[in-house]
Amino acid sequence: MSKRKKLVIIGAGFAGLQLARRLKGTDYDITLIDQFNFHQFQPLFYQVATARLEPSSVSFPLRKVFQGAEHVHVRVTKLERIDRLTNMVRTADGDFAYDYLVIATGCTNNFFGNKNFEKYSFTMKSTNEAITLRNRILLSFEDALSAGPDEIAEIMTIVITGGGPTGVELAGALAEMKKYVLPRDYPDMDFSRLKICLVEGGPTTLGVMSDAAQNKSQQYLKDLGVELMLNTLAEDYDGHTLTLKNGTKIKTRTLIWAAGIKGNVPDGIPDETVVKGGRIKTDEYNLMLGSNNIFVLGDVAYMETIAYPKGHPQLANVAVNQAKNLAKNFKKLLNGKTMTPFKYKSPGTMATIGKHKAVVDLPSFSFQGRLAWFTWMFLHLMLILSVRNKFFIFLNWAISYFTNDTTLRLILLPTRKEKETAKPA
Ligand SMILES: Cc1cc2nc3c(=O)[nH]c(=O)nc-3n(C[C@H](O)[C@H](O)[C@H](O)COP(=O)(O)OP(=O)(O)OC[C@H]3O[C@@H](n4cnc5c(N)ncnc54)[C@H](O)[C@@H]3O)c2cc1C
Repeated sequence: MSKRKKLVIIGAGFAGLQLARRLKGTDYDITLIDQFNFHQFQPLFYQVATARLEPSSVSFPLRKVFQGAEHVHVRVTKLERIDRLTNMVRTADGDFAYDYLVIATGCTNNFFGNKNFEKYSFTMKSTNEAITLRNRILLSFEDALSAGPDEIAEIMTIVITGGGPTGVELAGALAEMKKYVLPRDYPDMDFSRLKICLVEGGPTTLGVMSDAAQNKSQQYLKDLGVELMLNTLAEDYDGHTLTLKNGTKIKTRTLIWAAGIKGNVPDGIPDETVVKGGRIKTDEYNLMLGSNNIFVLGDVAYMETIAYPKGHPQLANVAVNQAKNLAKNFKKLLNGKTMTPFKYKSPGTMATIGKHKAVVDLPSFSFQGRLAWFTWMFLHLMLILSVRNKFFIFLNWAISYFTNDTTLRLILLPTRKEKETAKPA
């Protein structure tokens, strides 16, 4: 019988993967569970959706990360519920016992209860969803070639809801595609008819960034021809017509939902520990309130501190740093030492809108434009996992920098066999 403490980590995103990597080779027996067999670099999903990067460049197989690690067991399955009384997690492929459990399940889309948005809109919360969106965008232009006059406006209008970093970056990338790529791919089509609209409920884009970043991002989007609709709420959508709260109706076949997220809270977590936005309350050690062996990390964790009285921002850097701190604490637990509380020092935030068009907020100052754009690219290259992925991303970016083009616009739809053999979601 192994004397090693059983540590089960649910989710191999930024937080879960970081934790497992840092504890590899210690005296814990680790089981890392994720519904996918790869880690996903979500900040670059929009480049997959706009055919600038290959899906494999922003994903990395988990088994490769832990090759040869005897005490790290990767399990590709979906968590169904946590049984706190027996210290077991129930998954679609069996049960796993734990001494310590770490929930790092991240977030999912929040449609605020509207089933139509959920059913008809396109989302970008996984590599698979980014590929689905890429297929839809590319298929739209193929459809437009044979569309009748009644359909063409609907096909040639893409609406994005949500003016946060995801919506802004996607709108900018689509606008650049319209400007540089599509007229070359479809010389017989009039792309002045392609409308890219960004609908935002608040008074500005990039609401969490500085005034300078907000103003500049709006100017960049307008320069690129994006129709910006601020103080505008989306009310309903039937797959063809988007109805706005102000009564306006927009014909569109492609509505992209970037307007809200909520935590992936597993079944079995007590209701009283779940706060608004679907996040699980923790203490300053990321320990779930009321528990002595369940920790919560990253987007799904809600930790109030003096510096962050409403919880930490849901960012990759927060997730990674929480995981680093918890890894140190798990090592301390092995040696009977006292754990260290988590403290977050924000290095800043950034977003890119297009070539030479980015905004960066550092703790003490902000800057925009060409330097911000190169800074954004450099930092993202540094953060991406594996030398191979860094190399291919750099290569793709270099090609598109000099040619304003890529060669990745493949429409890859699942075959009948793939659909038949897919595991149910
Ligand atoms: C499109 C997009 C762009 C973004 N851009 C930025 C950016 O520019 N900068 C930034 O800092 N942050 C950005 N973010 C946010 C950032 O990606 C998150 O803050 C970060 O991923 C949180 O890490 P995490 O480990 O908490 O969760 P995640 O990285 O989301 O990982 C959660 C993991 O849990 C798995 N999982 C969930 N439920 C289950 C289940 N029931 N069973 C099994 N496995 C499960 C998922 O498959 C996933 O692998 C972006 C997010 C998105 C979606």
